[in-house]
Amino acid sequence: MTDDNVLNKSEARSEASSEDKKHGVAQGMVNPSKIYVKEVYGFFNRLRSIALWVLFAFYFVGCWLTWGDRQAVLFDLPARKFYVFGVTFWPQDFVLLSLFLIIMAFTLFTVTTLAGRIWCGYACPQTAWTFVYMWLEERIEGPRHARIKLDLAPMSLVKLIKKFTKHFLWLVLALATSFTFVGYFYSVRDLVSDIGSVDVSLWALFWLAFFTVTTYGAAGLLREQVCFFMCPYARFQAVMFDQDTLIVSYDETRGERERGRGKRKKNEDHKAKGMGDCIDCQQCVQVCPTGIDIRDGLQYQCIACALCVDACNEIMDKMGYDRNLISYTTENNLQGRKTKILRPRFAGYSFVLIVMVSALVYFLAARDSIELNIIRDRSALFKEASDGRIQNSYTLRIMNKSQDEGKYEVSVSGIDGMEMLGEHSIVLVAGEVRTLPVMIVVSRKDLVQHNMDIAFSVKAVGADANVQEESRFIGPLL
Ligand code: SF4
Ligand code: SF4
Repeated sequence: MTDDNVLNKSEARSEASSEDKKHGVAQGMVNPSKIYVKEVYGFFNRLRSIALWVLFAFYFVGCWLTWGDRQAVLFDLPARKFYVFGVTFWPQDFVLLSLFLIIMAFTLFTVTTLAGRIWCGYACPQTAWTFVYMWLEERIEGPRHARIKLDLAPMSLVKLIKKFTKHFLWLVLALATSFTFVGYFYSVRDLVSDIGSVDVSLWALFWLAFFTVTTYGAAGLLREQVCFFMCPYARFQAVMFDQDTLIVSYDETRGERERGRGKRKKNEDHKAKGMGDCIDCQQCVQVCPTGIDIRDGLQYQCIACALCVDACNEIMDKMGYDRNLISYTTENNLQGRKTKILRPRFAGYSFVLIVMVSALVYFLAARDSIELNIIRDRSALFKEASDGRIQNSYTLRIMNKSQDEGKYEVSVSGIDGMEMLGEHSIVLVAGEVRTLPVMIVVSRKDLVQHNMDIAFSVKAVGADANVQEESRFIGPLL
């Protein structure tokens, strides 16, 4: 994908199609920076719609699911706890969270190497929301030519109503999106009741307004500009491509032949005249959400949505030609070579991904549900008790990282005859952290060294969870 084959978009749209001319759209009268996308039906459009509904269902329903007595997915920033169904992440789990994000990035790299930009075309929220916004626009303002005519027409009551309705519905969807997003951080049920009782925090209001404006702007107004100028992925994904990566491509050899593309009658023997299969109908350009002409070669603006494949296949069917003049293919396929799926780059990414996922699963499974920190009293190395025994003081910080309330027993080991003074058991609700001051006393005769290793243990009563931490017991010099 070089700068040479990056298409000048205005050039791509400069040629008004016969359909545009039929509807009286004069070339150059339409805002050249605005793309009027034509709706298309076909296999890839259906696939994209399914992906979109799945994404929307996850997004809009996800925050309403409950797990036990709390929201199943909640990023509780003030409490510094992230709940993801049965798992709670604490600030101490930052490494796990980082590992999870790295895995997500590597998954994207791996999928991109194999299947190109299918993330952009089918799963990226920017694409999904933009398509819904365009769908709403088409329902209100009509198909492509009607929208162009409406924009060219002087202001009237009908135009005003249509424009107002479109922007109003866009804002409603943006508000719903923003409300749901904030609901993942605020607790969506609390958000509803706080809004109902007009008692929402200023921060929540700020983020609601911010995400409403962002969604409306990105999906309604900026659309493909976000992909072109704001998304870094579009720029660096080319380095993950190789000759076997799936791309949407126009078969130039078949489309152009010796005498190029062009109009012809349906049953005309165009091959005899040296003409290619492309009838230059511009349908592939009109359905493209980024406004490019795929016949100019692979371009970074292409989000691989394959809507041009659907559009061209429809034309090929009408003309009685073979399908897939534009298709999902690979550079190797286009040059008549075999496409290899298992190749070093893909194998390398997959291997790293498997190792990282295994590590994450292991660390998640091996996570303690109790956390214990020991702070030794540094104001005095030791004290001598009234009975002559040596005394050290500690503060134990115990945290219940499980999802349920638990009773915990504290014990100490390491020196014969040692005794722990203070509370030996503690009850903590889920997520609670408590400090427990304790004193350890040891007879002089049991101190075989000035400085001895000891270990505190905290065990959950009635559960298979315990944790042990080491510390030091210091006595007088022997
Ligand atoms: S839709 Fe197909 S036939 Fe029509 S211009 Fe595009 S490539 Fe050519
Ligand atoms: S060129 Fe085709 S695949 Fe690429 S963005 Fe446009 S319609 Fe989608």
